Amino acid sequence: MRRVFRDDHELFRDQVRRFIAQEIAPHYAAWEKAGVTPASLWRRAGEEGLLNCALPEPYGLGGDFGHAAVVIEELARANYLGIGFSIHSDMVAPYLDAFGTEAQKARWLPAMTRGELIGALALTEPGAGSDLKAIRSRAVRDGDHYVLNGQKTFITNGVNAGLAIVLASTAPDLGARGLSLFCVEAGLPGYAKGAPLDKIGQHSQDTCELFFDDLRLPVDCLLGQENAAFEYLTRELARERLAIALRAAASLEGMLEETAEYIRGRKVFGRRVIDYQNSRFILANARAQSVMLRVFLDDCLARLMTGELDATTAAIAKLNASEIQGKALDELLQLYGGYGYMAEYGIGRAWADARALRLFGGTSEIMREIIGRGFA
Ligand SMILES: Cc1cc2nc3c(=O)[nH]c(=O)nc-3n(C[C@H](O)[C@H](O)[C@H](O)COP(=O)(O)OP(=O)(O)OC[C@H]3O[C@@H](n4cnc5c(N)ncnc54)[C@H](O)[C@@H]3O)c2cc1C
Repeated sequence: MRRVFRDDHELFRDQVRRFIAQEIAPHYAAWEKAGVTPASLWRRAGEEGLLNCALPEPYGLGGDFGHAAVVIEELARANYLGIGFSIHSDMVAPYLDAFGTEAQKARWLPAMTRGELIGALALTEPGAGSDLKAIRSRAVRDGDHYVLNGQKTFITNGVNAGLAIVLASTAPDLGARGLSLFCVEAGLPGYAKGAPLDKIGQHSQDTCELFFDDLRLPVDCLLGQENAAFEYLTRELARERLAIALRAAASLEGMLEETAEYIRGRKVFGRRVIDYQNSRFILANARAQSVMLRVFLDDCLARLMTGELDATTAAIAKLNASEIQGKALDELLQLYGGYGYMAEYGIGRAWADARALRLFGGTSEIMREIIGRGFA
């Protein structure tokens, strides 16, 4: 029993599960091969009310983060970590909502909620990931335009994205205090996208590079104040990191059930794999850790919904959840023997997909840095 969710959340969960079973499960293997999810999935998700569900009305669906958490959890529990709804709904749209003008919100958010416009967040560059103040992308004011030059990499939803929120320097002398965010629409002259990157997991995720070459952006594409991006990024981190932690925890819970079922059916030396004590101990360890994680994350979720989740606690959530998930999935995979290494079984995909969660949204080392600062 989880106390953080209300009845309306649980009803919504049933709806999300149905959507996943009907709209994602039959096609996911093909999307993994194609390296991208089709735009039609996003429009269907919009029609079903799965996008921007925590965003206030009139631009979003007026739910709370409990609804967003349901979507995040159910996708992860069903082992579809390659679907990029969370970046779109829980990162890009909230930036627009928090820092955008009314005109910017009216221009982009309704289409994002309908799934007609897909959002990406473009911070990382080839030479700057953990240390964002080292970014080289540069936006220079020229009359009523900014001229943007630079390159981004590892951008989730990059290929599909009609709108990217891009971090660029507007005052290089000011370092972190000289960064700004821009809303960049696909198709503008000087904007190019790379092909989906060849990753070790999350193959259906259209992660790619973005290139800006003398891209002229009208000044009304600046998001919020000039040179205020670092403060904005910091303000949004708790929700973003909790969203990743929730994915990790639900993915582990889903795989724990799937593994238990598999080893109940598999016989070795005349006994079911689950009849070996070692197998039950592996399941027990994973269950013990995931239950403890769940209680902590539910508390974080409750705090987020009342505006009380601080950055350090969110870092603790992301660090614990992604590390526990990664290590537990590795042990669960072992219980499948060679079948664990075959793409046919979900455990192999979960194991490879999960590896990214210790890297993006701030690496585990950066989480330890944040947590460790409290002792300095
Ligand atoms: C699948 C995937 C999707 C992604 N999606 C997006 C996206 O949508 N948008 C976006 O902007 N970015 C995205 N990223 C980028 C991601 O956020 C970065 O990869 C991450 O922040 C790490 O940066 P880096 O890769 O440059 O590694 P680096 O910063 O080069 O780190 C290299 C190593 O140094 C360690 N390190 C760095 N600083 C410290 C320190 N102070 N102390 C100790 N160790 C340290 C790191 O932990 C790491 O082990 C994505 C990445 C992946 C893999």
